[in-house]
Amino acid sequence: MSIAENLQRVQQTVADAAAKARRPADKISLVAVSKTWPIKVIQEAVDAGHLVFGENKVQELEQKVPAMADDLQWHAIGHLQKNKVRKVLPLCTMIHSIDSVALAERIDRIAGEDGLKIQGLIQVNVARDNAKFGLTAEEAKVAAEKLSGLSNLQIRGLMTVPAFDPEPENVRPHFARLRKLREDIEANFGASLPHLSMGMSHDFPVAIEEGATLVRVGSSIFGKRNYT
Ligand SMILES: *Cc1c(COP(=O)(O)O)cnc(C)c1O
Repeated sequence: MSIAENLQRVQQTVADAAAKARRPADKISLVAVSKTWPIKVIQEAVDAGHLVFGENKVQELEQKVPAMADDLQWHAIGHLQKNKVRKVLPLCTMIHSIDSVALAERIDRIAGEDGLKIQGLIQVNVARDNAKFGLTAEEAKVAAEKLSGLSNLQIRGLMTVPAFDPEPENVRPHFARLRKLREDIEANFGASLPHLSMGMSHDFPVAIEEGATLVRVGSSIFGKRNYT
C-alpha cells in the first residue's frame, strides 16, 4: 500500500467514526505522525495533499521544517525539555505535550521575547500511568485556570497518551475521562478548550467516538517505524 492509499483509508476511517458518533467529520483533524521518517517519505504524504504533521523530537523538526514547503503545519507531540523551548517555537504551530505549569509559563515568556504566538494543549495522564508524562486531572484543572490568561501561549484543549492496549475498547474509558475533564473545566473555570488530542493508529476510531478533534496517526499512514 502506498502512503497516498494509506492516507485515504485513514481519512475514510475518520469519516466513518465521525458518522457513527453523529459528529461532523470536518471537526476532526488528522495529524500525520512523521517521527523517524525521512523527508522523502513525508513528501509522499504532502504530494497526496496532506498538510499537518506531528513530530516528537525537536531535532527532527529542526531538520525537516526548513527543508519542506512552508504551508505545512507541524505539531510538537512529545515531551518537551525546557531548554528546547526557544528552538521549537518557530518550528511548530501547536504543542500537544504541555505537562507542567512551569513549562507553559516558559513557553509564554519565550514566545513573547521572540515575537511569536503559539497554541498549546495540556497533557493529562488520565490513566495515572507512572510511565507517562502529563498532569493528573486535578492538576490539569488548576493549570487550565492559571494558564487561561497567558498572552502568547493560547491553551486550546487537552491531550492524552494512554498506555498501549491492543484492545481499543479498554482504552475508551480513558478517552471518555479526558472528554469529561474538558467539560468540567469549561463549566467551572470559564476556560474554552475546543480541542481533545487523543487516539493513535490502533485506537483512533474509538477516540473519535469519544470526542477527539485531533487524532495522531503514524504507523497506519507511514508503516511500521524502525528505531535504530
Ligand atoms: C508516535 C506517536 C503517535 C503515533 O503512534 P502510531 O501508533 O504510530 O499511530 C501518537 N502520539 C504520540 C504522542 C506519539 O509519540
